[in-house]
Amino acid sequence: MPNVSFEQIVKSYGEVTVLEGLNLKIEDGDFLVLLGPSGCGKSTLLNLMAGLGEVTSGRIMIGERDVTDLDPKDRGLAMVFQSYALYPTKTVRGNLKFGLAATKLPRDEVENRIRWVSELLQLDALMDRRPAQLSGGQRQRVAIGRALVKHADVLLFDEPLSNLDAKLRTEMRMEIKKLHDRLNPTVVYVTHDQIEAMTMATKIAVMNGGEIQQFGTPDEVYERPETLFVAGFIGAPQMNLLPAVLRMGEGMPTAVFTGGTRVDLLGYAFDRAPQDGMEIILGLRPEHFSAPDAPLPHAACTLDLPVCGIERTGSDTVVTLDFEGHAIAARAEPDQAAGLRSGARARLSYPRGKLNVFDARTGRRI
Ligand code: ADP
Ligand code: MG
Repeated sequence: MPNVSFEQIVKSYGEVTVLEGLNLKIEDGDFLVLLGPSGCGKSTLLNLMAGLGEVTSGRIMIGERDVTDLDPKDRGLAMVFQSYALYPTKTVRGNLKFGLAATKLPRDEVENRIRWVSELLQLDALMDRRPAQLSGGQRQRVAIGRALVKHADVLLFDEPLSNLDAKLRTEMRMEIKKLHDRLNPTVVYVTHDQIEAMTMATKIAVMNGGEIQQFGTPDEVYERPETLFVAGFIGAPQMNLLPAVLRMGEGMPTAVFTGGTRVDLLGYAFDRAPQDGMEIILGLRPEHFSAPDAPLPHAACTLDLPVCGIERTGSDTVVTLDFEGHAIAARAEPDQAAGLRSGARARLSYPRGKLNVFDARTGRRI
């Protein structure tokens, strides 16, 4: 199956430019997730790929073919929409068949493919029902089936799970992932949900304001966010982002806070040359703090902070602490945080290997 690439894509609606010179390459067999907040241009990009909108300038390549001006049906793509777009008057079988109506395949082949997807997606018992007689998850499977029968090289999904309840969403996430592992098509999947992105993607393109802020594996965007936006968008609870000044004294880089707290950055792998006196944002993930009142030796810092809130979810506990007037979150095991009360103090350390440092001026990782 071919690679897909976007080259210098610009998309404007009248005066408004939504995508401004965007480049992106999707490798054969990748499960690429376009992740970003509502309105950042994800659907616009996906629709351009599908041929449902015209680029203002730039080129879309599928393999060696320039498909920029091709008709949707000639691109070898199949799309699953958020609304599923099933035909209400057709049965499941009719909906699946309709996906092949334009292909002029021999009847045997049509039957074979329909049997294949109905088995694959466990639709056998539902073939004669109409969409109104199906649950949300079943409709979703039909919509995916209709895309799969086309044997398209590339499958496009636009927020296909956002209409489902939480439990079904988790199930369908696993189903789609299994399907990808088994059939290995190239998938481009749009979502604003970072959990969907982290669990399904082989690659994530994090978008904001029509730009790709970072492109990488789920681990890369989580472990080494390139920008403050990515740092804040990936991870729940959100990464704590705290303004400080970088001091380089005697080869010992340190983040110094206005209230006097110091965080030792010795051993931090700087991406860019650090400068003494520069304003930085230090990023500390809630899940990397030590257990409260069990600080670890050789940490980047050990903090003794007032507890201002405790949120118990059952599987874990999020402790809110006052760090020089900023509320910061630390995640703990429920039994480690069992004795903590609002108004008390807690001692926590943060490990050296898990620091994130950003240039406050540019918002980029340093
Ligand atoms: P997302 O899918 O990330 O939520 P969209 O791609 O749908 O975002 O939209 C990106 C931006 O483009 C939004 O600001 C939206 O208002 C604008 N937009 C989308 N479609 C149109 C259109 N047909 N005309 C004008 N503006 C549009
Ligand atoms: Mg959208």
